[in-house]
This record gives sequence, structure tokens and C-alpha cells, in this order.
Amino acid sequence: MSDLSLPQYTGDFDAASADKRDKLFAKLNRDYAVLLDTISLIDRLDGDWHWQEFDSVIPQSKLARWLKDWGNPGPWYEPLPLADLQKHAMTLHLIYQVFYYSQLDDIEAIESLTAFYDLLLKHPDFRQAPDRQHMARFKEQPQHRQARVNHLVSTIIEHEVQTVRMAYAVERGFSMRAASLLPVMYYQMGILLRSPSGDFQKIRQCANCNAYFWGHGNRRYCYKSECDRRRVYKRKKRGAK
Ligand SMILES: [Zn+2]
Repeated sequence: MSDLSLPQYTGDFDAASADKRDKLFAKLNRDYAVLLDTISLIDRLDGDWHWQEFDSVIPQSKLARWLKDWGNPGPWYEPLPLADLQKHAMTLHLIYQVFYYSQLDDIEAIESLTAFYDLLLKHPDFRQAPDRQHMARFKEQPQHRQARVNHLVSTIIEHEVQTVRMAYAVERGFSMRAASLLPVMYYQMGILLRSPSGDFQKIRQCANCNAYFWGHGNRRYCYKSECDRRRVYKRKKRGAK
């Protein structure tokens, strides 16, 4: 797994218990698991989707599982409302998608990019003027494509990490302090998009459950037991009979 060799996270917020919080921060300092789990909350998304209609794309069961695994991502004195968690999960998901599709060159990829880019432009907190021309521009000017995506994504990430602070103690050196898990996830997303070791390319989508995971080589299935390659194959065989 990648080495996030930047300042370590420490937190003001409490995820149910100090013990759970310490574990969470250890995890955040080591890999992208929380971030990938968050963008995986979104089930199939199409271009007709509207902001606020989260229940149609984020199944309750997945949300409950996420909260059980990671706790409420807000500061301890103010748990984050579920709608906010959904909104941020969607934002991070769209950032991942536009970035992913902006790097491909075939016509289907450009269509997907256009659909996701449109949705991100309509973000309730960063709403930008709709641009009916960008499909054509994306097709004709690849350099334009990346520049537009970079600009939109940068604006959002920069805004979301504003509350992150640096702390310093002689004994431990520099550390980051964040009042909630959210800015940390945007910070991680920012690192991921620029990772010199190509971390972004190592993200895969599971062929069975559609979750995003950190993959090696040609791995097609995530690490959940129900997505084990042999099990999936057996199930398919049984279903086909
Ligand atoms: Zn899976």
C-alpha cells in the first residue's frame, strides 16, 4: 500500500471512543481505505440525477455499514447530519470520476466525463454556470479537458481543506489537526490525484459489488469474502443452470 509520507493526522473529534479514534487515525495515516469506502457508497449514477436525491443512489444498508466501520465523521460536539455525509460522499465520488474519465481518450469516456462534470458543476456549494458547449470542447481539445477538470476539482478541494491546521510539538514534530474526518478525506483525495507514485492508477472497481478498492496487477474483485473470485464463479455457475 502507498506511503502517505506527509504530516500525520491527529484529531479533535471523537469517533465514539478514544480507542476507535486512534485506530481511525492510524488507518488514515497508512492508506486510502476510508476514502475508497466513501466513494463506494454511491451505487450506479446516471446523468439525470439531481443533488439532494441521495437516497436513490446511496443505499441505507451501505450507509449504516460505513457508519459502523468508521463512526460519525463530524466533530464529537456536533455529529454530522447524514445528508451532509451523503453530500460529501457524492462530491468525492464525482471528483474521482471526472478525474478518471478526463485521462481517457475514447468517445464513451468523453460522454461519461461530460455527464459527471455536469453534475459536479451543479454542486449546491460550488454551483457554476452551466456550460452547454463543454462536450464539444472536451472532444476537440484534450488539453482544455484536463485544465477545466483540474480547475473545478482544485476549487472544491481547496475550499474543503481550509479548516485543517498544522500543529507542532518538539517530541513529535509536525502533525495535522482537523476537527472532523471530512477535510482529511479531501486532503487524501488531493494527494491521490497528484501522487508521484501513480497511486490513482491503482484504484480498481470490483467486478462483483462495484466497490472501489486498492488493487494489484489485474485483480478484478475486492477483498470482501462475498467477492472472492472462486465464490463469485461458483455462484454464477449455479445461477446459469
Ligand atoms: Zn466486491
